Amino acid sequence: MTYSQQMEEKLVKTERRLRLKGSQGKNLRVVRELYLRDDVPCQSDRCLANCENNIGMHGTIGRLSNESTHYIIPDCQVARDYLEILETPDIKGIVFTQTAVHSVQHEGSKRLHTRLQNLIKDGRKRSVMFHNEFQRYAYCERLPGENLVQWQSRSTYKACEWYYDHLAGQIPMVMLTHNEEAIQLYSDKKVNVFVMTVKDYLTGFWEQLEGIMDLYESLTTALENKSKDRDYSGYLPLDVLEAGIKSGRYIQGILEVNRHNASTEAFVRRSGRLKKVDSVDDIFIHGMVSRNRSIHGDRVVVEILPQSQWKGRSLAISPAESEDKSSADDKESDSVVPTGIIVGILQRNWRDYVATFSPDEVIIILPYF
Ligand SMILES: [Zn+2]
Repeated sequence: MTYSQQMEEKLVKTERRLRLKGSQGKNLRVVRELYLRDDVPCQSDRCLANCENNIGMHGTIGRLSNESTHYIIPDCQVARDYLEILETPDIKGIVFTQTAVHSVQHEGSKRLHTRLQNLIKDGRKRSVMFHNEFQRYAYCERLPGENLVQWQSRSTYKACEWYYDHLAGQIPMVMLTHNEEAIQLYSDKKVNVFVMTVKDYLTGFWEQLEGIMDLYESLTTALENKSKDRDYSGYLPLDVLEAGIKSGRYIQGILEVNRHNASTEAFVRRSGRLKKVDSVDDIFIHGMVSRNRSIHGDRVVVEILPQSQWKGRSLAISPAESEDKSSADDKESDSVVPTGIIVGILQRNWRDYVATFSPDEVIIILPYF
């Protein structure tokens, strides 16, 4: 038997019907043949089923580690909205389903998709893309009447189940979702296949990780404001930021969040100045919308608002105030101070993480289908 005959035997043909809008506004019906196979590799060091995990360019780098205590499978929405949480260096062992990667690509943005690919390529993250839609026992056909989100949830859960069974129950699986319906449907279905929100997951596993809850809160606030169509704004492109800094329009510095009043008060300490410098130099950032998803310790770019929009600080002690100041200073602290909004983040407080790769990085060519 030839190799291709062998391959054909392994494939199960299915069809997927797509409805596309043509250029004239007509509906086109497209039937795409889909070949399901039962040898889509799990890419886990815990595999007992002889998956061909070493074949191709994956090598041994970037594979799901047997040091992880659990593997995480984010659903499509979590992959799109909380990618930054998943990028945190300490959080490893993430399985991105093909369904989630497609969702990031088509429902998210090109930039987000690139970041996701970089995450998967980064050997330190020990995270993979799983081609669930080609795996015979993980593939879910969309049911009549099932909406996209329901299908995506079911596909994600099915991938969790597949991994759990494929790895013979050696390692718990955690599905991350913000879909209440999915949590109700699936959370009690199988022991050691957990279905929970990002918040519950972080609280349960990573609360001690510095900055992680702040990052979660700031992302959540930004999302809420976005969905309410409020004045939340995105970051400016890097070249605009750099030009603005050069021209003096923007100021760069380190964000310091007031621990006594974390939800409303933060300050940007201008770069290149010494700690002892007078607090008047600090720029006040009032509220989470102005903070624009940045967190304590980030190197940020700030735009100073017109003086009419300046705000007064609360009487809580700001990080810039020294302890030996007299109470007379405190009384004056409700007068307005230079106030700004964050327009960009130059460096996350995860230090070198953004856009750097480990030396043992391998380039994985992800297939497009
Ligand atoms: Zn395997």
